Amino acid sequence: MASVTKEQVLAALADVADPDSGQNVIAAGLVSGVVVRDGNVGFALEVDPDDGAAKEPLRKACEVAVERLPGVLSVTAVLTAERPSGGPARPQGQAHGHTPGGQAGAAGQAQPGAQLLPGVKSVIAIASGKGGVGKSTTAVNIATAMASQNVRVGLLDCDIYGPSIPRMLNLSGQPEVVGERTLRPMANYGIKCMSIGFLVAEDTAMIWRGPMVMQALEQMMRDVEWGELDVLLCDLPPGTGDAQLTMAQRVPLTGAVIVSTPQDIALLDVTRGINMFQQVNVPIFGVVENMSYYVCPECGHRAELFHHGGARETAQRLGVDFLGEIPLDMAIRTTSDSGHPIVVTQPESPHAAAYRRIASGLIDKASAAVGGAGRAQPRIVMM
Ligand code: ADP
Repeated sequence: MASVTKEQVLAALADVADPDSGQNVIAAGLVSGVVVRDGNVGFALEVDPDDGAAKEPLRKACEVAVERLPGVLSVTAVLTAERPSGGPARPQGQAHGHTPGGQAGAAGQAQPGAQLLPGVKSVIAIASGKGGVGKSTTAVNIATAMASQNVRVGLLDCDIYGPSIPRMLNLSGQPEVVGERTLRPMANYGIKCMSIGFLVAEDTAMIWRGPMVMQALEQMMRDVEWGELDVLLCDLPPGTGDAQLTMAQRVPLTGAVIVSTPQDIALLDVTRGINMFQQVNVPIFGVVENMSYYVCPECGHRAELFHHGGARETAQRLGVDFLGEIPLDMAIRTTSDSGHPIVVTQPESPHAAAYRRIASGLIDKASAAVGGAGRAQPRIVMM
């Protein structure tokens, strides 16, 4: 099927009426930053921050209009507000053509993350298009690999729906409160860690509403004594829904890593993941292929269970880096699930070496990114 074009997307959006202005959303100048890539479409709707919740039906209507186009695989529309805190809002209906997070919104504006994580040099998201691909296992092993290279590293478990990092780092109990309302991160294997899992039981079903998610996240950044860190890794919840998109924007990310298994279906999710970060102007550091192949522990035979190398091909096609591959191996599972990551317990293993290579690549990318000009930050209106 032919890929959808930007012109088709704009034409579809021109059929969506903005009830406030009485014009269509294009004529009203609400749409910016249209990105079309291999059937994945993203764009921003610029609104007054105070109108955020009221504009949600319009955002949805825009997504639906574009979803109907043939050749569209995914649509991500975000609400953005260009107004700096306390400053005047951009008049509605004014035409503009920058991408979300582009220069216009960021001029003279402090990075929102600056106050949240003052001593942290770089923040890297570990994300995945769907659950169960080994995202947390990868995050923990990359963190321990970084620590083994004398990098001051923290791990923020943003997976509020299924926080598994405490178990994987063999951490339990509750963080100490220091001062008025600051929590001291828990620590093991040289990694400082904070997780909602320390505050609620792992098997407690939590119903999180949007604002609660953001509040919890902000507290885990701002009200935690992270101290000086070279890298803070953020294990995001799996998927590319609204919660992830909001987090990708609200956490002051230096870059993002997407973890995927080689199955084709997961690779579609990779595209969605990449698209999501591009929407909020977060650089993609690259893709890791997990459970890439299987080495028989008995005879050493290497078997490709799925179409091995798919993530590398997808990365190449989408113009992002391939960071490395990790095999499907019982030892990775047992060490990770028991809280003794393989990088720590079997540092001589080829798997530990593979994690260290990925970690080194990320450290280089993070240093290069923070050494350069600061990233422009979009502002997204929270529901
Ligand atoms: P996610 O964070 O993507 O939901 P997890 O990291 O929790 O996934 O991993 C899901 C399960 O897969 C865990 O039991 C974990 O130990 C296992 N696992 C992850 N990566 C590997 C691997 N490379 N080889 C074997 N098992 C793995």
